[in-house]
Amino acid sequence: MQDYLTILNKNYGFKKPEYWLQFASAKRFKEVSFKEVKFCPYCNSSTNTKIGQFIYYSTLHSLLECSSCGLSYVDVLIDPQVRQKHFENAYKSEEYFREERDDIFKQTICLIKKFNKNPQSILELGGATGILGESLIREFPNTLVIINDISNEACTSAQSKGLRTKVGAIPIIKKIEKNSVILALDVLYYEENLKESLLAIYNNLEPDGVLILRIPNKSFLIKLFNKNQKDISDKLIFFNPEHLYLFSQKYLAKNLKELGFKSVEFLPSVLLKKKINILSQFIYYLSLTVFKLTSKVICPAMFVVMKK
Ligand SMILES: [Zn+2]
Repeated sequence: MQDYLTILNKNYGFKKPEYWLQFASAKRFKEVSFKEVKFCPYCNSSTNTKIGQFIYYSTLHSLLECSSCGLSYVDVLIDPQVRQKHFENAYKSEEYFREERDDIFKQTICLIKKFNKNPQSILELGGATGILGESLIREFPNTLVIINDISNEACTSAQSKGLRTKVGAIPIIKKIEKNSVILALDVLYYEENLKESLLAIYNNLEPDGVLILRIPNKSFLIKLFNKNQKDISDKLIFFNPEHLYLFSQKYLAKNLKELGFKSVEFLPSVLLKKKINILSQFIYYLSLTVFKLTSKVICPAMFVVMKK
């Protein structure tokens, strides 16, 4: 029999471990090493308010909102080896990328064409095995397409498709030449060094270059649905526990302009295929109507397009 009290005392976040004993036993908690995030990863401020909390990998995470820049971030990073293993197992399936993300890729290609008809080069951050990369080569035959990913295995697979690759976390792209378009689809919320990553992205764009992000647009919903959380709450409704950040439109508009981008534009994104059902379709089409009438993006996921 494991001594769950010892585990709760060692793992992060359990100020009253005795409250969590039954939960830890039911979920078979394991000891997980961690690094506390004491300062805002964007502006280094230490003042914040708590949005809510959740359990992930036997660790009690809190989601905090920085009082200075407005970024919402989790207050602890679990063992990088545990995270790396999780991602190596979770996101390798080409079928997942091809099937589930097909509509997202099509929308991304339309957006690139809208903002730059003949890009000299496109860098895709977190591009995995290069499924979108392959389509980009087909759509833009005269463009240099580079795939960046944290997984060695994914980059090797992208190379076999004829793509140039750069393996590592986003800040390493410092060493790549300037790009016309940088894509970061559903990846920015995994990046531990957020400020460094955004600066690296900005510096790797040529003048008038375009950054296209895809991220969840659930800041309002998460705050609304979790405001009465209890001390023993283990889930943050609508928040994906893998994510390190929750980006609001207000935070992005203010801080990315301060970073140097000339414009920051929000656009509704199509949904992942697995998330499509009657209710989500209804919400999606309702949000498109709202966007057409008011230019407000209330869709559960959004594209953010920034011009340097
Ligand atoms: Zn901050």
